[in-house]
Amino acid sequence: MEKEHCERCGRKLRSEKSRELGFGPVCYAKEQAEKTLVQDEPENGLREEVNQS
Ligand SMILES: [Zn+2]
Repeated sequence: MEKEHCERCGRKLRSEKSRELGFGPVCYAKEQAEKTLVQDEPENGLREEVNQS
């Protein structure tokens, strides 16, 4: 489902790509950065197994 406004700052999303993501390009970059930070904290005790072969 496409969003009309940025989930983060609430600005109207102009590009189709942004609507698909739900964020403007700047906010999307911030979201990605936060995701990376959060990876260190185990969430609900779940951890994704990474193939290290
Ligand atoms: Zn935004």
